[in-house]
Amino acid sequence: MLKTNETVLEIDLDALEHNYTYLKSKLRPTTKFLAVVKAFAYGSDATKIARKLEGLGVDYFAVAYVKEGAVLRDGGIKTPILVLHPQPSNFDALIQKGLEPSLYSPKILREFLEMAKKNKQKDYPVHIKFNTGLNRLGFWENDVDYIIEQLVGRNEIKIVSIFSHLAASEDLKEATFTNGQINTFQKIAAQVDKKLDPAPFRHLLNTSGIINYSESQFDMVRSGIGLYGYGNEKNIDARLRPVARLKTIISQIHKIEPNETVGYNRAYVSDGYRVTATLPLGHADGIGRQYGNGNTYVMVHGKKAPIIGNVCMDMIMIDITGIDCREGDEVVIFGEDPTAEEFASTANTISYELLTGISQRVKRVFVGDCFDN
Ligand SMILES: *Cc1c(COP(=O)(O)O)cnc(C)c1O
Repeated sequence: MLKTNETVLEIDLDALEHNYTYLKSKLRPTTKFLAVVKAFAYGSDATKIARKLEGLGVDYFAVAYVKEGAVLRDGGIKTPILVLHPQPSNFDALIQKGLEPSLYSPKILREFLEMAKKNKQKDYPVHIKFNTGLNRLGFWENDVDYIIEQLVGRNEIKIVSIFSHLAASEDLKEATFTNGQINTFQKIAAQVDKKLDPAPFRHLLNTSGIINYSESQFDMVRSGIGLYGYGNEKNIDARLRPVARLKTIISQIHKIEPNETVGYNRAYVSDGYRVTATLPLGHADGIGRQYGNGNTYVMVHGKKAPIIGNVCMDMIMIDITGIDCREGDEVVIFGEDPTAEEFASTANTISYELLTGISQRVKRVFVGDCFDN
């Protein structure tokens, strides 16, 4: 841990390597690994994370949008990048940056074919997304013939992979549904294999899929949250290491008399003599109002201090009564204790939302071995 003198999100690249190695250990050595680095690599820093993972030998990256992929290319990333949800208005930029689109509907397929033709492309790599039950994006099982027909007599694009996405891979109560998705995907793959030579490679599993359904790893897996240290399960979280640690310092300490109030709308009322500390981060940094009013705690010198009153835009107040600390001392918002998952759960949300919501105002600092220095 570095010592800090402001609010920082500390990104631990050694933890990232540990998580990558752990997830790889669940796979056959030949299974390819796609690292999902969308949304600033789950709120951390996409280029730095991708550079580290590229050095570790990751096979593919995925982002949600073209702009995110362009940032990686501009940052020197050479590994193939799958764009999960490209918009036709960005197809030109996608091709210029050598990004690979997920094509998920007849409209998107036709529009991409047109753009590839306009750009005089030959065998441009694309990935076909099938919907097997999430009902979000994707072609249907019975669209295979349609897709193949679109390609007859043309060579602008080449289907390098087919994939689908599980709806409830973290929830073993939904195993019957998930196994149904796996079967549907297998049937689609068998149909595609009959029509295309060479057959495209196949991928289905996200992080919880790797944990719970590793027998269905096909040719590649796509992992996001696991790389960042969370596995949607306590016993998996225990094997992973959080990559992001949000830390700050105490700006000011106040001694509060009984029946005084703290913060906007006087939401906190003291029940006795209390000591409070004001911290320089708030909802504009990604700590939403749902974390206020005593539901959530942060750590001051290893002791729990609840967030009291309403979360402000740029500040929160915590109760440090009985904790030996001073102005300028360090406070851990989340990291190892509490973890982002534990912190998020106090407001009925999940680590994914908390991590990706840490705003760009918070400075990112890096610890551990980087490949670029
Ligand atoms: C975000 C995403 C993933 C990564 O999921 P995790 O649960 O974070 O591992 C994988 N595949 C698709 C299609 C996604 O959108």
